[in-house]
Amino acid sequence: MYGSIEAGGTKFVCAIGNENLEVIEQVSFPTTTPMETMRLVKEFFDKYLDNLKSIGVGSFGPIDVNTTSETYGFITTTPKEKWKNYNFLGKLKTFFNVPIALTTDVNAAAYGEYVKGYEKKTSNIVYFTIGTGIGGGGILNGELIEGFSHPEMGHMKVVPHPKDTYKGNCPFHGNCLEGMAAGPAIEKRNGVKGQDLSEEDSFWEIEADYIAQCMYNTTLMLSPDMIVLGGGVMQQDHLVKKVRSQFEHMLKGYVQIPEIDRYIVTPKLGQQSGIIGGLALAEKALYKTSKNVQ
Ligand code: ADP
Ligand code: ZN
Repeated sequence: MYGSIEAGGTKFVCAIGNENLEVIEQVSFPTTTPMETMRLVKEFFDKYLDNLKSIGVGSFGPIDVNTTSETYGFITTTPKEKWKNYNFLGKLKTFFNVPIALTTDVNAAAYGEYVKGYEKKTSNIVYFTIGTGIGGGGILNGELIEGFSHPEMGHMKVVPHPKDTYKGNCPFHGNCLEGMAAGPAIEKRNGVKGQDLSEEDSFWEIEADYIAQCMYNTTLMLSPDMIVLGGGVMQQDHLVKKVRSQFEHMLKGYVQIPEIDRYIVTPKLGQQSGIIGGLALAEKALYKTSKNVQ
């Protein structure tokens, strides 16, 4: 059996899955203090200790993913005070004596869509979540993209839309992509949450423009085979079509992209991309460890 943890800023989800990466049991609880939250994590997996082979974790961040760093596996500069500089991986290792893979929440979701959602039909895929924040994770040739750290694609620069007077709310950059297009920015502009805004509202063209700019940058930077758009805001069914159309208009045929409806897509696994991604990362961690041993 594999374990999976989706560590979010608001809630933690823990799951146990089988070798087909199917979830057998799943629980979720609010993210409070590290002590209380980690106690619940331990309690959940303790029931399965005899069969637990490995664990995959997708975490909120930023996290230190550099395996040679002294603070590898720490949650670093998060605005969540109690979790600042918290040795997340270290704590998990004191609980569970199995291989543990740790990456960002969006990397885990990208991996889930790659392995189980789109079933490795391509080995180059980028996943974005457009929710409370915006984050992006990528897989190139079947491996997560990580350099000195994990990518922070949600904070890319975007050109303000000519009809948009909003200044943006990213505490670091103001009008970066997240500052302009994540859920809270939608709410601040319109006075209502995205889910309460009419489908007919002209704002959605502005929202689509920012996401299309993100598709444009991603296409030119990474030329993936597929970009998956998830997160709460993408539950607006009409939005992905608007994004596709504005993106094609921006690109002006400069590069030959795959067929658009198969290029910019929504998650096959719905809300489960991250949890199933965690199971897939657990499987990968076990495989890597067994290879090293031989
Ligand atoms: P999180 O990013 O916190 O993990 P979500 O991906 O669900 O969670 O994103 C939450 C954000 O998405 C909120 O800002 C919320 O207003 C927005 N949102 C949720 N559902 C919808 C919807 N149907 N349409 C537009 N915005 C939505
Ligand atoms: Zn930013």
